[in-house]
Amino acid sequence: MPHAVSAVPEPPATPSVGRVYNFSAGPAAMPESVLGQLREEMFDLFGTGIGLLEQSHRGAAYDRLLAEAFQAVDACSGLGDEWATLFLPGGSMQQFSLMAMNFVPKDGWVAFADTGLWAHKGEHETSCVRRVRKAFDGTACRYDHVPADGEISDCSGAAYLSYCSNNTVEGTQFARPPRVAAPLFCDATSDIFSREYDLAAHDLVFASGQKNLGASGITMVLVRRSLLERADRSLPPMLSYAHFARTESRPNTPPTFGVRVIGLMAKWIADHGGPAAFGPRNRAKAAHIYASIDRSGGFYRPSMRADCRSDMSISFQLPSDALVDRFVAESEREGLCGLRGHREWGGIRACVYNAFPAKGCELLATFMDEFARRNG
Ligand code: PMP
Repeated sequence: MPHAVSAVPEPPATPSVGRVYNFSAGPAAMPESVLGQLREEMFDLFGTGIGLLEQSHRGAAYDRLLAEAFQAVDACSGLGDEWATLFLPGGSMQQFSLMAMNFVPKDGWVAFADTGLWAHKGEHETSCVRRVRKAFDGTACRYDHVPADGEISDCSGAAYLSYCSNNTVEGTQFARPPRVAAPLFCDATSDIFSREYDLAAHDLVFASGQKNLGASGITMVLVRRSLLERADRSLPPMLSYAHFARTESRPNTPPTFGVRVIGLMAKWIADHGGPAAFGPRNRAKAAHIYASIDRSGGFYRPSMRADCRSDMSISFQLPSDALVDRFVAESEREGLCGLRGHREWGGIRACVYNAFPAKGCELLATFMDEFARRNG
């Protein structure tokens, strides 16, 4: 008898009746099974007779919830005991000043890879508290690619290099972490746990919740414990990563709902094969849309170089703003929603994170072919 292979379940390819394909950049589409579980837990968590939002963060149910979240995140990250997982209130943007205050001496500096709008904003946030130096200036090429190692200027002496693994607005993505002569800090907000990626090459990785991790207003930080030991001890505790690590991310009342959502999202990812299984799935999903772009004869105009295309956020321009408006209106009528590009970038953007159902990418590609034929 052949061995029974325990097959990894595939995520549902379509949404259930009454729901649409949501291409929003974030808050973004979530797995329906997670939404269903949250609906139940909202009323009664773990059979306690107390709902998720009503649980004390010092009670046994929250202890269990937190342990489950840490465990699920560990299963996805594959990082061991040398790393701490933190759940912080607030978004990714807060991390830029916090990282600098925690880990950069007053006379130190941060190297920045300016690869897109969010990296650029992060650089500004950092510059409010410490000196920054651009190690790569993507404005010169209108953010059309992410740098190869050789394009990043010498970072030796920097407290760290800050870079963004997936540029959500422009639609570019690093294939692997850059190799530089400085500790590496990564904003992985829009592609955390979406593929096999060498997290251990970093000293710190962060992602806010509203994409692959669920709810907005919370940020997960993965950080080396050895780094925490060297952090500035004079900071107010509520701004100190080490303090959050010591207190299991509950120095005060934590964002309990967001922590539960991250825990369930990470468990959903792990149950469906983990980041390694999502990589090929996400690649295949995005390929449908890129194929339509490529066969449109220049009607759809991606601004990124083909070798840097993101599997998470697919961004392209149309010949006119009027056509963008028409594209958005007509696609919505087909149940393909949330496709308007970022307000500072324009065009169309399809975000297809882990939980985005695969069929939606095929349907979008078919819609795009048809739209280009009629309007090209
Ligand atoms: N970094 C990246 C890569 C993002 O995509 C975003 C939000 N879209 C942010 C940072 C900002 O995240 P937040 O709104 O959680 O501060």
